[in-house]
Amino acid sequence: MFNVYPINPVTIARAEGSTVWDENGTEYLDLYGGHAVISIGHTHPHYVKRITEQLAKIGFYSNSVEMPLQRELAGLLGEISGKADYQLFLCNSGAEANENALKLASFHNGRRKIIAFKGAFHGRTSLAVSATDNRKIVAPVNETDNVVFLPFNDVDALEQAFDEYGKEVSSVIVEGIQGVGGIRVASDEFLKKIRGLTSAYGAVFIADSVQCGYGRSGRFYSHDHADVQADIYSMAKGMGNGFPIGAISISPAIKPWFGMLGTTFGGNHLACAAALAVLEVVKEEGLMARAEQIGNYLMTELRKFPVIRDVRGRGLMIGIELPEELGPVRRDLLTKNRIFTGEAKPNIIRLLPALTLTRDQADRFLEALDERLKDY
Ligand code: PMP
Repeated sequence: MFNVYPINPVTIARAEGSTVWDENGTEYLDLYGGHAVISIGHTHPHYVKRITEQLAKIGFYSNSVEMPLQRELAGLLGEISGKADYQLFLCNSGAEANENALKLASFHNGRRKIIAFKGAFHGRTSLAVSATDNRKIVAPVNETDNVVFLPFNDVDALEQAFDEYGKEVSSVIVEGIQGVGGIRVASDEFLKKIRGLTSAYGAVFIADSVQCGYGRSGRFYSHDHADVQADIYSMAKGMGNGFPIGAISISPAIKPWFGMLGTTFGGNHLACAAALAVLEVVKEEGLMARAEQIGNYLMTELRKFPVIRDVRGRGLMIGIELPEELGPVRRDLLTKNRIFTGEAKPNIIRLLPALTLTRDQADRFLEALDERLKDY
């Protein structure tokens, strides 16, 4: 293996809901869900049934035949996201979704310049850009003068950029809540300003919802909290609950032509079955409302810990900023309390649990955190 991942010394052998077990049968609480991927809980029975039944019929055929499953998915996604008139293009991952979004914007308005924001993470492929503050920007082949990084949540900087070169801007890409960058929520004012300026200058507003989307924030897209409509929404992670699938949802104002975008695996039968199962469960079990409710509960309780510097996020996308010297708390939560969490920076704990998380599981985490914070 090419050694690029720091590995926890745990082998997961079985999983159900927000609980996972290692090969010795030791139980863990999973509050990370493999980077926000596990949206409806591990091995949800409806999900397992739908994929298994699909696999027994047909697992894959290319995008050259009628695909009723894709139409069904487009319909249900349109309904649940409240964007029934948007068009769906399916692919396989978040980076690929963003790359297609940027490319589509460029086809649409014939421009090349992209505005992104400091602290953002949009992927690692050639057109997708990433710029987390604390990491070196690795320049992919096309990340040249075409990409400008402005400060996040800075309305003045945005206005100034559009004053200077607004007519060259093809797209503005922004996460509703920055994930990798430390759980930073885009302000309503900022998102509204992006909407206003992109509309005024004929640029495309791309809402990167790969991590913050799919109901996690309590609304389908976290940008919805600001009451703005983007032109393109990109999504992946929670979409397939572990089955790789990504997509962009595209405003009806952007018109397709044959060959404009393409993919080999995107939208295959199994991926569609997985994505449909996820949406059916989100709808049936009211998971968006639940994410908001349990998320609000967690954040209210977390704010009562005097030692915690800041609690940020929305719904079940939560960042807990600790003083620098408390960085090891996250590791201790795993080794001593058997709770998986994520990190944004060494002192920021990132919670991205399944939207099915129960109040009891939230309490288990709060008690464990209380215990660990007392160690320091
Ligand atoms: N956009 C955002 C906001 C992300 O958090 C990520 C993954 N961390 C990506 C894009 C890239 O997704 P993927 O790893 O599926 O390519």
